[in-house]
Amino acid sequence: MENWKFKPESLMMSHGYKPELSEGAVKCPIFQTSTFVFQKAEDGKAFFEVAYGIREKEESEEMGLIYSRLNNPDLEILENRLSLWDNAGDTAVFESGMSAISTALMEFLNPGDLLLFSNPVYGGTDHFIKHVLTKYGIEVMGFNPGQSIEEIERMLQDSGKADQLAYIYLETPANPTNDLIDIKGCVELAKKYSSADKKVIVGVDSTYLGPLWQNPLELGADLVIYSATKYIGGHSDLIAGACSGSAEIIGRVKVLRTFLGNMASPYTGWLLMRSLETLKIRMERQGNTAAHVAKYLKQHPKVEKVYYLGDLEEGSEQKRIYDEQCKDAGAMLSFDIKGGEAEAFRFLNHLKLVKLAVSLGSTESLAQHPATMTHAGVDPELKQILGITDKMVRLSVGVEAHEDLIHDLEKAFEQV
Ligand SMILES: *Cc1c(COP(=O)(O)O)cnc(C)c1O
Repeated sequence: MENWKFKPESLMMSHGYKPELSEGAVKCPIFQTSTFVFQKAEDGKAFFEVAYGIREKEESEEMGLIYSRLNNPDLEILENRLSLWDNAGDTAVFESGMSAISTALMEFLNPGDLLLFSNPVYGGTDHFIKHVLTKYGIEVMGFNPGQSIEEIERMLQDSGKADQLAYIYLETPANPTNDLIDIKGCVELAKKYSSADKKVIVGVDSTYLGPLWQNPLELGADLVIYSATKYIGGHSDLIAGACSGSAEIIGRVKVLRTFLGNMASPYTGWLLMRSLETLKIRMERQGNTAAHVAKYLKQHPKVEKVYYLGDLEEGSEQKRIYDEQCKDAGAMLSFDIKGGEAEAFRFLNHLKLVKLAVSLGSTESLAQHPATMTHAGVDPELKQILGITDKMVRLSVGVEAHEDLIHDLEKAFEQV
C-alpha cells in the first residue's frame, strides 16, 4: 500500500487538508479572513522574502500565510486538489475564467511579441486578444480550424513576424462548434520557434472537456486554463477560473495575480472544493446523458446538422485529433435547426425543463443561441466562416434523466 497512487476522485474529500489544524473539523472551514497573525516578526520577514521573490524558498521551509490576496488556506487546498486532475506542478485560482485567461496571457507577452491563437475562441477571450492586448503593442494572429499545422506555419512565415512568436493560445474543443485543434502539433510548432533564451508558451483553454476528458499538459502544453464557473463549479452558482502548469510557470502567474489582485475569494474557494467532490460523477453522468440527446437530435427531421464529438467521421482529421487528445466526447453539443433565427428562437422559447441561458457545464441543462448571445461580438464575416450561423443552437447537457430532456426538446420542436 506504501506506493499506492490514489485516483483524483478519491482524494477530493481530503487532499491537502489537516483536520488537526482546524479543531478536528472533517471539512475544511471557510477561512474568511483578510490577514494572518505571524508568531514572531522574523516569520513575517521570512514569508515576505519568499512571497516577493527576494530569495528562494529553502528545501525544508513551509511558506506561511500572510494576507488573503497572496495566500489563503481555502485557495491553497483547492489549488492542490485541482493540480491532481492534470497532474500539474501547481494551480492558480482566479475570480473568473476571464481573469485566469488574461493573467496567463499577460504574464508571458511583452510589447512587440506575437500571439498566435485559434478561432473561434470564447467571446470574452476574442475581445481581450483583439482589443486589449493590441493596445499594449502585442501583435495577434488568428488561425481557423481545418488549417493544418503546415498551413499555420506558412501563414506565420509569410507574415514576416515568425521570430516574434511568443505564445500559442488554443481553445479546443472550440465553443460553440466543437472544432478540435491539434494540441501536439501546436506544441511542436512552439518548440520549433523557441530558442535558448525565449520559450514559446502554449496555453490551452480546456473548459469544454476538462479536467476529466482532456489533459493538455500531458500533450506538452505549458498551461491549461479553465473557466471554473463551468464543470469544475458545476452548479451555476459561482464565477471562477483556474490555470495549471509546472510550479515554475504557475509561480510566475501567481506573482502577476498578486499584483492584479484577481484571486478567488475564500468562500468561492470553499464552494469549489465542495464541487470537486462530485466532479467525476457529475461529468460522467452528463457525458452519458449527452450521448442519448445527440442520438435523438441526429435523427430529428427538423435538425440539419449536429456538432457532437461522439460521432466524428471515421478517417477524418477531426477524428484523428479526437483520438489523440480527447478521452470522452463530453456533454456539450450544438445543432443547426432547419430554418434560421426565427425557428431557433421559437424552439428556445418553448423549452421548459432546459433553461434558456448562457454558460455551461452545470447540473441543469442550458440552451442558447450563440450567433446573437455568447458570440454576438464576433466579427459577422468570421462567424459565417466558422459556421456560427442563425440556425445554430447550443446545448449544455446536465444531470437530468435523458428521457425527460428528450421529451422537453420534442415538445419545443413541435412548436417550430
Ligand atoms: C465561460 C468561458 C470562459 C470565461 O469564463 P468566466 O468564468 O465566465 O470568466 C472562457 N472560456 C470558455 C471556453 C468558456 O466557456
